[in-house]
Amino acid sequence: MKLKLDLHPIFNDSRKIELALKAIIEEAVDCHASEVEIIPGKGSGALKKSVLRFLDQPEVKARYHRLEKDSDNWGRLFLHFRHESLPQSTKPKATIALVTVTTACACCTEPISLAKPDEDAMNPVTLECPWCGSPNRLVFHRDRRGVVNARAMLDYEDS
Ligand SMILES: [Zn+2]
Repeated sequence: MKLKLDLHPIFNDSRKIELALKAIIEEAVDCHASEVEIIPGKGSGALKKSVLRFLDQPEVKARYHRLEKDSDNWGRLFLHFRHESLPQSTKPKATIALVTVTTACACCTEPISLAKPDEDAMNPVTLECPWCGSPNRLVFHRDRRGVVNARAMLDYEDS
């Protein structure tokens, strides 16, 4: 079984895109789809980049087997899934607490956001800005209310 996600109708709403990607991956896992076709649309390089960024997060990556980029029509992406033949009931429930942290790029100040599993939310990560491509080193801290905040600095400034 194959699923298809066309991002054309929501191309300018990154929140909706993220939710749509989450939902289709969830659906693919639930109904044992072998493949999900994602259509960001031709000529929308920034959109495709943010889709790739989303798919590249470790906790998202863990859900699918392989990402394929269509060489003929570069707008399309294919996610391939491999499903274990275990009975549904013996599978552990995938409940990962995600924290979404948003901060401004240290170079161009455009927003960068990422979702991380809660337990390793405090480990610093290096992330390429989806807008200007600069490497940002994100350092996390919890404020008094327990909310995770991030501070970005350019990675090559790091001594
Ligand atoms: Zn930037």
